[in-house]
Amino acid sequence: MSQKRALLMLSGGIDSVYVMYKALTEGRELHVHHIHLKNREGRVDAEARAVRRVLAWMRRNDLTNFRYTESFFDYGTLHWLPKDYWSYALHIGMIMSDPANRDMDSFLHPRHSDAFNLKGGKVTYEQASERANAALLGIPSLMARREIKMELPIGDMTKAEVIEACPPDLLRLAWYCRRPVKYGSTFQICNECFTCKQVADSVYRRKVTGR
Ligand SMILES: [Zn+2]
Repeated sequence: MSQKRALLMLSGGIDSVYVMYKALTEGRELHVHHIHLKNREGRVDAEARAVRRVLAWMRRNDLTNFRYTESFFDYGTLHWLPKDYWSYALHIGMIMSDPANRDMDSFLHPRHSDAFNLKGGKVTYEQASERANAALLGIPSLMARREIKMELPIGDMTKAEVIEACPPDLLRLAWYCRRPVKYGSTFQICNECFTCKQVADSVYRRKVTGR
């Protein structure tokens, strides 16, 4: 594995938060980028809050070997739900195209071994990976006009293993619900979406609540 500086797209969710922690504790230098991704699921504010808290946690724990940037992307009146990785591919391409980032040629992708919602049964993990990889590697490579590579630091871990490995006080700051419900200035998880169900099935509750 190359130990050059690498790009991480930080959503504020458990997986990207853990990958940031893992890479920095292993001594990797990162460029961390957050997209304020506004879609009809309405999780943009919950994610932004998680990112602010996570960055503060990293700095408090002397994990400071990263540069942070952010951007805003709004799907506006498109009323279907585009895939998150399409926006990631575009932004990875823009960041890699910056002449100041010519030293980077890879990004850390926080995909674990049960990353895709395959309940419909029409697509296998391999097929879903292949589609995502084609966009995540092809678009940035075309834009930056060099070969952009993907590293999968948690590719052989399950969601439950990621949660087990993450420090509890960091885990508590990460956001995971895809369709949060807003009550005044706070957010509640929906308990119904794909990631809520994954987390409910895992060790998350025991780890965060001690019960
Ligand atoms: Zn949810």
